[in-house]
Amino acid sequence: MRILVTNDDGIMAPGILALRRALTALGEVTVVAPTVPQSAVSHGITLTEPIRVHRVDLGEGAKGFGVEGRPADCVKLALLELMPDRPDLVASGVNLGANVGINVLYSGTVAAAVEGAFYGVPSVAVSIEDSDTVDFDGAARVARRLIDQLAAGGLAPGMLLNVNVPDLSRGPPKGVKVVPQSMKGWREGWEQRRDPRGRAYYWMTGQEIPEDVGVDSDVAALAERYVTVTPLRFDLTDRARLEEVRGMDLCL
Ligand code: MN
Repeated sequence: MRILVTNDDGIMAPGILALRRALTALGEVTVVAPTVPQSAVSHGITLTEPIRVHRVDLGEGAKGFGVEGRPADCVKLALLELMPDRPDLVASGVNLGANVGINVLYSGTVAAAVEGAFYGVPSVAVSIEDSDTVDFDGAARVARRLIDQLAAGGLAPGMLLNVNVPDLSRGPPKGVKVVPQSMKGWREGWEQRRDPRGRAYYWMTGQEIPEDVGVDSDVAALAERYVTVTPLRFDLTDRARLEEVRGMDLCL
């Protein structure tokens, strides 16, 4: 199996190094990732700047491609330029911090997997809950076990899965749950501060809304310490509303 490994935390982040190490057991791994952290850039791409690519020593005798761009740029470049053969799988992560609920919309980790799926390549995003001692190797082994099982059943073209691993320092996960994405948001606000010259600047703040989780959801299952798997799609059309809006007889 040929595997493209990417992320949004940057090519030297411990999570991507752990994922590369773990997936090497499944096949030939190529690492193409941003040179600097790109968390929360979502599906951004680089249109007005040149994109330079550097060979990067990843340690353990491995090299990767460091890309001066966004996670989605990395996947496009990898598939169309850097990899001589199309990969069988795109794996993005292991991201520091869960990508559940509406965080999925902001995540560069998930966007890289979406980009792979755009190209018809089965793609998996992998994230682990933030904690004091983050076990990236443990999360990468979880990803390997899941990918191994998925590959045994045959990876469907364009399959797009979002995997989240609970904090492993609290013990092994209870199991795996396949769950929908929660629409849980955050109670957001802005803190206004003053810079040393007296000018205002803003810092975003947010609190979780615990009552809004949804029983059968990624957020709830992860909180119960399950590994969560959520199949995603990127057609944003609200099909239920198509007829309603057509019924409005919009005209010019
Ligand atoms: Mn990240």
